[in-house]
Amino acid sequence: MIELRDVHREYGRTHALRGVSLKIEAGQRFGVVGESGSGKSTMIRLLAGLDKPTSGEILFEDKRIDTLPERKLGFLRSALQVVFQDPMGSLDPRMRVRDIICEPLGRTNRARVAELLDAVGLPVDSGDRYPHQFSGGQRQRISIARALAPRPRVLVADEPVSALDVSVRKQILDLLAELVARFGLTLVFVSHDLGVVRRVCDTVAVMRRGEIVERGPVGDVYGSPE
Ligand code: ADP
Ligand code: ADP
Repeated sequence: MIELRDVHREYGRTHALRGVSLKIEAGQRFGVVGESGSGKSTMIRLLAGLDKPTSGEILFEDKRIDTLPERKLGFLRSALQVVFQDPMGSLDPRMRVRDIICEPLGRTNRARVAELLDAVGLPVDSGDRYPHQFSGGQRQRISIARALAPRPRVLVADEPVSALDVSVRKQILDLLAELVARFGLTLVFVSHDLGVVRRVCDTVAVMRRGEIVERGPVGDVYGSPE
């Protein structure tokens, strides 16, 4: 479904990715772990078509995306959606929740808003409200609803619970797992936290200094959970 072939990304003298090759199959729940600075976010931006590699190839469903200009990436924007770490940073405080959720659709559809709010466990009439009227965990539910709006096949979650209170992390992880199963999504889940990756992923790649140093079924790489 997603493939990286010998991908490099340099920022000036910083070599953020050093020859990453990777295949993510449809239906996988693929975890990317590594310390801060190991290149996880860079890799995510590349596979989401938000940045271009310095060299190497990136394919989505067997189609090269690294060579496409932004105006030809529309198909990728609906097929693959990203949930970011900090929902407050990515939710416009001046927009109503219903308009935020429908941003990827280009127009607001109230029936769809109610379905999506229901799917993420928020009251179906919360669409009139603004992001600051919700807790951190609820705001992350709003950004998940927005990501689901175009019915993507791939959901990319970049540290989706790292900014949340410990008490709500499990709820959001369980919600992601439930939605992935219900809609048959492919999940790419990025975290510095092994415990979290073990909870939601079946396959994992470990990054260190811009390289993948280990990969495989999550139990083989980290042993079974205690
Ligand atoms: P991670 O997500 O694992 O924390 P990143 O992909 O953010 O790692 O960063 C990998 C390396 O690339 C770091 O050294 C970081 O400072 C550098 N880097 C990332 N993005 C940029 C950028 N836009 N400009 C310059 N350096 C960057
Ligand atoms: P249906 O296929 O009839 O929409 P589902 O049970 O599959 O029914 O979906 C339940 C709800 O989730 C519906 O409100 C639908 O709009 C929504 N939904 C279905 N597929 C997706 C998807 N891939 N991403 C986001 N929402 C979806």
